[in-house]
Amino acid sequence: MSVDLHLHTTASDGTFKPRRLVKRAVKKGVRVIAVTDHDTTSGIQEACDEAQRWSVDVICGIEINTEYRGREVHVLGYFIDPENSDLQRRLETVRMHRVQRMSKMVERLRAAGVEIDEEDVRRHGRGESLGRPHVAQALVAKKYAFHVADAFERWLRPECPGYVPRESLDPFEAISLITQAGGVPVLAHPLHLGSDGVIEDLIAGGLRGLEVYYPTHSPTHIAYFSDLADAHGLGKTGGSDFHGPQIKRVDVGDVDFSLAGLRAFCETVGRDVPRLARGGRL
Ligand SMILES: [Zn+2]
Ligand SMILES: [Zn+2]
Repeated sequence: MSVDLHLHTTASDGTFKPRRLVKRAVKKGVRVIAVTDHDTTSGIQEACDEAQRWSVDVICGIEINTEYRGREVHVLGYFIDPENSDLQRRLETVRMHRVQRMSKMVERLRAAGVEIDEEDVRRHGRGESLGRPHVAQALVAKKYAFHVADAFERWLRPECPGYVPRESLDPFEAISLITQAGGVPVLAHPLHLGSDGVIEDLIAGGLRGLEVYYPTHSPTHIAYFSDLADAHGLGKTGGSDFHGPQIKRVDVGDVDFSLAGLRAFCETVGRDVPRLARGGRL
């Protein structure tokens, strides 16, 4: 019986609607899931409604994209109150900035002679969160680049004609927003950050857990992050980071994390274990 605490839906950049995600979890024998869309909680209600029809527990989650020391830092939040107004207000601003950034990129590209408009970009975005990957896909579709990486290289990287700097949250603000919304902040895919003290800074900034179990983590990585979590009294989570079967080729539940792991996490961070996970049976 497995648990998957890192899943995306069409509310951000996933390809499955929340309803379909829940059905997939049922099919894969995953008992507890967390819906963790980028910078939005708008997929959660639908997932909860669907989960009631099946014996699946849904934890209210989010993945907030931030930047720190030139690095992308993703902060997961679990057990958040999706109605929290400070959180929602801040997320709204973040999403608005992203849309404005996309418009500015299109403007700069047009000034550089590229025939592209916002509608071309929107066509490649499936949800609310439009960003550089969608502009890149539009450039490929319009034959201004061979493929997405090429589009970044020619047009969208710093010092390229279409580059617009991002206005990001910093991870400490994300940690405090999640905490104030009643949630538990956990660092997503810590391997992406390397080992030059960034993780320690975040721990000092109020982080409560590490995503120790992740599809690209080897047993050595898992042991390393597990020890790091123990040393700082942090909880350990696991998630597949599913975005849809076409993306990254992982499926719901493709992570070595169990009900026992979830129970240990809840105990470490002082939360009640979700109803269905308590006894380990239906
Ligand atoms: Zn992430
Ligand atoms: Zn993710």
